[in-house]
Amino acid sequence: MSTSIRPQPGIMDIRLYQGGESHVEGADDVVKLSSNENPFGPGEKAKEAFARTVHQLHRYPSSDHAALRQAIAEEHGLDASRIICGVGSDEILSFLCQAYAGPGTEVVHTEHGFAMYRIYAQAAGATPVEAPERERVVDVEAILAACNERTRLVFIANPANPTGTMIGGDQISRLAGGLPPQALLVLDGAYAEYVEGFDGGAGFVESRDNVVMTRTFSKLYGLGGLRIGWGYGPQEVIDVLNRVRGPFNLSETQLQTAAAAVRDHEHVKKCRAENARLRVWLAEALAEVGVPSDTSYTNFILARFADRAEAEACDDYLKTQGIIVRRVAGYKLPNCLRITVGDEASCRRVAHAIAAFKEGRR
Ligand SMILES: *Cc1c(COP(=O)(O)O)cnc(C)c1O
Repeated sequence: MSTSIRPQPGIMDIRLYQGGESHVEGADDVVKLSSNENPFGPGEKAKEAFARTVHQLHRYPSSDHAALRQAIAEEHGLDASRIICGVGSDEILSFLCQAYAGPGTEVVHTEHGFAMYRIYAQAAGATPVEAPERERVVDVEAILAACNERTRLVFIANPANPTGTMIGGDQISRLAGGLPPQALLVLDGAYAEYVEGFDGGAGFVESRDNVVMTRTFSKLYGLGGLRIGWGYGPQEVIDVLNRVRGPFNLSETQLQTAAAAVRDHEHVKKCRAENARLRVWLAEALAEVGVPSDTSYTNFILARFADRAEAEACDDYLKTQGIIVRRVAGYKLPNCLRITVGDEASCRRVAHAIAAFKEGRR
């Protein structure tokens, strides 16, 4: 390759995203608890909608996503004209960076924040800036201290991944109110549905002009494999994002499955309740064998070990038992393992295996 052909500045600095592993050499009865997937998958209504789209595959999909935006707006009590749909919420995060960040600008994320914020900032040529957290909780004052006249975007997930912790409305209010005037606050609500009664930050989008919320069908709705997400923001911001969005970014299969999923209250309620029940059970089972975790508001637990060596030894042991969890050293949490709350059998299996691991080290 000619050395004159080079990518844009920043691209070669990107560290590739490490997804959750899904295979263990030599094991067939594998439990995958590494990607925060819903163990129940999508509901029947979503699956039926998915299957029906087979008759339309020769047609180009809707490019304005009106039906899905309407379904989301009705279910969440929002204004459909200020919703944008994307290929996972990842695509919305990418549009935000593409449209608002670039060379000479900064994008703030937090110490243990989701890896994609950094990656999309770098892909846009912007400089990612990391703000410290306090004991695995987003620290609003530290974020504000990291902002300056070059800051264009501030990303936080609330509840957060991989910590599972959450900050309150008073903190969000302080953050949104304290940002420099040219900066947009992005509230990533990938896990918002797991918190009963929580609007994911939609109220701040309504009451302010510098807040955007992103949401996904990948977690509670059990559709991670289909890639659908959405964003909600001020009309001006949504209009900007629609200019960088490809007209046919979502297939009719994605659009119709998501619309059916968001209307299926029974499935949502069942998955939320099961997750809450098993999350408490798993956290207590681990605490009993000396593996603490912060109170989680999500569908995973961040299990803390004595040190990096113990966390890695436990991960290695779990693999021998056919259980895959997530190492999070890349998120500056080397002594932790992130464990998705699976179905009851998976929770029992991972709790039992971690107990056996700890027993073996006494
Ligand atoms: C899973 C996740 C997402 C969503 O990803 P999709 O692209 O919608 O599948 C976004 N943010 C965080 C923090 C996540 O954990």
